[in-house]
Amino acid sequence: MLATIGPASDSPEMLRQLFQAGVTACRLNFSHGTHSDHAARIAKIRQVADEMGIAVPLIMDLCGPKVRTDTKSYDLKMGETWNLVPTEGDPALGKIGISHPTLYQLVPVGQAIVLDDGHLELRVERVEGTEIVCSVVTAGHLKPRKSVNTPECDNGLDVLSEKDQRDLNFGRDQGLDWVAVSFVRNGADIKRVRDYLTEIGWPDPPIIAKVETPLAVASLEEIVRLSDGIMVARGDLGIECPIETVPILQKRAVRLAHRYAKLCVVATQMLDSMERNPRPTRAEASDVANAVFEGAQVVMLSGETAGGQYPLQAVQTMDRILRGAEAVTDSPPTLPEISNQTLEIVAGSVRLSEHTKAPCIAIFCHTMEIARQIAGFHCGTHVIAACFDEQIYRQVALFYGIIPVRLPRTNSIDEAITRVLDEIQARDLATAGNRIVFMYSQPFGTRLHNTIRLVQMP
Ligand code: PGA
Ligand code: MN
Repeated sequence: MLATIGPASDSPEMLRQLFQAGVTACRLNFSHGTHSDHAARIAKIRQVADEMGIAVPLIMDLCGPKVRTDTKSYDLKMGETWNLVPTEGDPALGKIGISHPTLYQLVPVGQAIVLDDGHLELRVERVEGTEIVCSVVTAGHLKPRKSVNTPECDNGLDVLSEKDQRDLNFGRDQGLDWVAVSFVRNGADIKRVRDYLTEIGWPDPPIIAKVETPLAVASLEEIVRLSDGIMVARGDLGIECPIETVPILQKRAVRLAHRYAKLCVVATQMLDSMERNPRPTRAEASDVANAVFEGAQVVMLSGETAGGQYPLQAVQTMDRILRGAEAVTDSPPTLPEISNQTLEIVAGSVRLSEHTKAPCIAIFCHTMEIARQIAGFHCGTHVIAACFDEQIYRQVALFYGIIPVRLPRTNSIDEAITRVLDEIQARDLATAGNRIVFMYSQPFGTRLHNTIRLVQMP
């Protein structure tokens, strides 16, 4: 369970309660807050995680190239004409400022322009100079700095805004664990982000591509292949694509992520009404359970934990729904495509654990790759992920069913196995005589996994 941390959830007491209640990872939403707000939150999350002795991955979620209206308010009435201008607007002149310098060159006549997360809608009538002349299709009051979406066309902006670039530098300095990239359009956008990360000397944070535009949907398979995980970002997806396609796209995205053994997060409005109420709607409860049935690895809370009135109740409720749904599902709808030796070895260990009724599979994470691959199998067995590096220890904790443990570095597989058996015993995950499936590479620590070994608990 990935929870967005904000003003409603960032006290040490609340964080401790949320982790106890089922939160396993934290999202920092860089659409809001200053670097000093984030730094303070990061320090508090780490302090509480250390005190509790748990691995809590920190996901930095970039704002992305979001276009916004200016700082004024506007009353938009049905049938009125309003011009979108690339400078500050003026309600008296019927002009609304937008934060895109050249949108007028890109939007075709007849195209919809959606404001404030879908609350208002305009249609492009014509373009005059740098001004987009629009008619009001859905009327309402437009508050300052609201979103401007152009679902039918690429707004042509760099997937990393200047703010995103500053934020990534901050994330590198803070040693954050995962990066979620907003408004990804295609594989080239993922490459662009990886290149930028290399350029700033942050070469290997795993990337979650947020699927939230029709363009991303069109290039979904390529995006899944090039990223470490995807997020079905239903907030913007539901604005940019017809609402009736959202559940279908969610199913498709989850399946595709599985096929490539990539992380999949289902996000936004999962328990939306719990921002205001202590109990969810029945539809929300079904939505959370369905994400489990479909095979999502991670479910996310946004406003429910960041700013809502009932953050702890939302987490407790989600935890109960997840446990209930997991109890009646045994495997994901599709298995990863077996296409390389490591995946074959992973598949072999999962099968072996089933046949021998082994309570645990143990893996050694010199990188996070092996954890990613085994998580794709959703096996019912505990997966103990022994990590020698503090950051990998936190990164792998985001994957489904992974129990990360910290080990001192060693080149000796026998020593590593002994330590893992001690951990399993200390955590009461198996009893004497149980067999544990170990999977590793020989020579120990090399990339290619080639060994499965059954070890009896002493
Ligand atoms: P956001 O992303 O909350 O950063 O907009 C998630 C979504 O769009 O669903
Ligand atoms: Mn979004």
